[in-house]
Amino acid sequence: MAGPGATQLSFAPGRIVPIPASIPHEAGDMVDSRIIANLRWIAQRYPIYVTDGYSGKLPGGGEHVGCHGCHTTGSDHHNGLAVDIVPINGGIRCDRTWTAISRLAHWAEPSQNRPLPPFRWVGYNGDSGHGCGHHLHLSWEHAIVPQFRLAEWVEVFPVAFQGVAPKPQPKPKAAPKPKPPAGPPGGISSAGRTGGVSLHGD
Ligand SMILES: [Zn+2]
Repeated sequence: MAGPGATQLSFAPGRIVPIPASIPHEAGDMVDSRIIANLRWIAQRYPIYVTDGYSGKLPGGGEHVGCHGCHTTGSDHHNGLAVDIVPINGGIRCDRTWTAISRLAHWAEPSQNRPLPPFRWVGYNGDSGHGCGHHLHLSWEHAIVPQFRLAEWVEVFPVAFQGVAPKPQPKPKAAPKPKPPAGPPGGISSAGRTGGVSLHGD
């Protein structure tokens, strides 16, 4: 699978929300609601277990969520736009249980320090305190914002299927079919008689 593809900016108002059960995670973890669909998409394809999302006092002066003093100043965890990931049944050694997480890291950042949009920073092999056997950090590009606040916009990759029945794509409306001209069965030899209506117009 080659990268997340085209992305878009979400200006929808964000909220810090609990990570839903469809995305395996440590109890109590929360993120900005606008990256949930991307996380769910990832969780459907990679055996992820989120160990930390939002970290800090909730915007608006709420309670503390996530780990304490565990992320650097300016970390995207302080805006709910980063997650730390380990394999769901993995250990603390870089072994086979990490293979899929390494694939995910490579999908998000095929070459070191050049994360593909919408990712702002990918922490894995080659990044201190990250990597196979430790954890994968993914953060999403977003508007500049002070910590413990919600960003005005977040860059995400579009996800068509978000866990609800997809809307059937409306078929392009075809012009009403002209009545086939009466003619001999099996014969369409009489273009001259149909008044110029094309039989192949649709
Ligand atoms: Zn992190």
